[in-house]
Amino acid sequence: MPSTTVSFADGGVSGSSTVQRIDLTPDGAVVVVDATPFHPVDHTWPDQPGDSGEISVDGATVRVAEAVMAAVADDGTFAVAGDIPVKRGADGWTWLVGHRLDGEAPSALIEGARVELAVDPTRRSGLSRGHTACHLASLALDRALSDLWRKDPGTDALGSPNFEARANQSSRIHEDGSVDEYRLGKSLRKAGFDTEGFAATLAEREAAINAQLSAWVESAAPSRIVTEGPTIVDRRSWHCELPEGTAEILCGGTHARSLAEFVSISVTLELTDPQLLVMTTTAVPAA
Ligand SMILES: [Zn+2]
Repeated sequence: MPSTTVSFADGGVSGSSTVQRIDLTPDGAVVVVDATPFHPVDHTWPDQPGDSGEISVDGATVRVAEAVMAAVADDGTFAVAGDIPVKRGADGWTWLVGHRLDGEAPSALIEGARVELAVDPTRRSGLSRGHTACHLASLALDRALSDLWRKDPGTDALGSPNFEARANQSSRIHEDGSVDEYRLGKSLRKAGFDTEGFAATLAEREAAINAQLSAWVESAAPSRIVTEGPTIVDRRSWHCELPEGTAEILCGGTHARSLAEFVSISVTLELTDPQLLVMTTTAVPAA
């Protein structure tokens, strides 16, 4: 059985395919097809939620609550989402997109059936803008904090000291926004980051990030996904042609096609707990 072919990287939201398998899980039936436009939530770094939508077969339609990663081991073991015991791409496993159904599968939905797949396009667009805004906010954050490093922590996709890679502990994308959490503990201080200097200038840092984000939105830079192959397990990366240079970030998600899709992107920084920075990113879409 081959890995699932995916079309979401090119912006696909619909398609037809053939059912490969249907598995009953405690959270509902999971349908695997040969090729899908559905973007699944990643099981090891669940930043962008999976697409929702519908599967139709023979005039009957069933809701897809969320697309998830699924995998089959060489010994036949089938696992879904958080139950997959290995990282995406691990040897000895075939990688699939699972469509978790909301409700019972129609009787015509069986292995070998021809089906139509349709992603909820409004939610997809919102999640794509949210993901692009999330990457831009983290690049702007790295830039705005660059003078706070006493040692070289390595660089990000635009050559700034990589605060994101050193401190980001979780990223949650939603429609037109995201919430990122950064750990400001002892190890970051040891790596050469001036945590006290940062806390004392939080408002200025936030203003600098927001000025950078509005300049980037103003540039209307093209944004796209580059794939190394057609299946869910092939590496994908986000490319954004910013005035400072093209940012390239390994990324499994979906994205806006251009920064012209935004009226604005802005962040708020919170240090309620001195060890934890919370960056909340809000995008306003163009009409
Ligand atoms: Zn990403």
